[in-house]
Amino acid sequence: MTFIRALTGACAVALASLGLVAPAKAQTYPTRSITTIVPFAAGGPTDVVARIITAHMAQTLGQSIIIENVVGAGGTTATMRAARAANDGYTLITGHMGTHAASVPLYPKLAYHPEKDFEPIALLAGTPILILARRDFPPKDLNEFVTYVKANTEKLNAAHAGVGSVSHVSCELLHSILDIKPVGVPFNGTGPAMNALVAGQVDYMCDQIVNAVPQINAGTIKAYAIATPERNPSLPNVPTTVEAGLPKFQAQAWNAMFAPKGTSPAIVASLNAAAAKALDDETVRKRLLELGSVIPGPAERTPEALATLVKNEIAKWTPVLKPAT
Ligand code: ASP
Repeated sequence: MTFIRALTGACAVALASLGLVAPAKAQTYPTRSITTIVPFAAGGPTDVVARIITAHMAQTLGQSIIIENVVGAGGTTATMRAARAANDGYTLITGHMGTHAASVPLYPKLAYHPEKDFEPIALLAGTPILILARRDFPPKDLNEFVTYVKANTEKLNAAHAGVGSVSHVSCELLHSILDIKPVGVPFNGTGPAMNALVAGQVDYMCDQIVNAVPQINAGTIKAYAIATPERNPSLPNVPTTVEAGLPKFQAQAWNAMFAPKGTSPAIVASLNAAAAKALDDETVRKRLLELGSVIPGPAERTPEALATLVKNEIAKWTPVLKPAT
């Protein structure tokens, strides 16, 4: 037996040296499940976008992708954790315009830098911003909303997902245009903030479309306007801020996937390819479009395009948000 084994081994070595037997192929990435951190509560837009896309990526990669919701400090707690995670491709983060751009001017001691501490993987979705309110909020349209919030600023509560979150910075922009400073009510994400809006516990919020379409269509909240130049096909009856009389308020957020700095180019490439494949899948596209997302085209999905987006967004938000700190 030992002899046969030795003989088999010797033959294998001989054949391998002749190039006739392929050496056992090391299993390539991923060999176990991957975690993507979502820096907000479950059920909000970042969580929803991450779940739709990673479900398809998991099929392509042949491993499950676990969503870990880590909340706090407008998404920066989770993003810091992701920046410090092992750069082996098994811990990723699905961040957004807040965690990877607006947080830079808002947190002078931010413990990570979006450009220096991450390898961009892919832009996952563009998400226009809407001005939303509880169903029984008195103003009937955007003009009335402007007059009402200016007249009642002290009494109003604007929900958001923490300082530096998309909902926070986009309403900061709205408030600076209107020259008001209402009380902000922070939540661990706009999933729970939306629940509070539906329950009438807060007055209004600015949020990503993905969170709003089901509630607007169900009539549980009001939508005054979408802050983009064109109406969104998922909400054909919601006017743009241009149509509704507040053209200066333009805001579109985005969600994107990143890995910790130093993750190998091969791993980044396979994650990027899986994300791109998900964005081409009919079922994924249908779901994202139903929720009002803008699906990035091929040129916008590359790691390089995401690096440029992050750089440009930091440059865009810094002068807007710096004076507010
Ligand atoms: N949309 C949220 C924000 O305001 C976060 C979330 O996805 O829950 O940043």
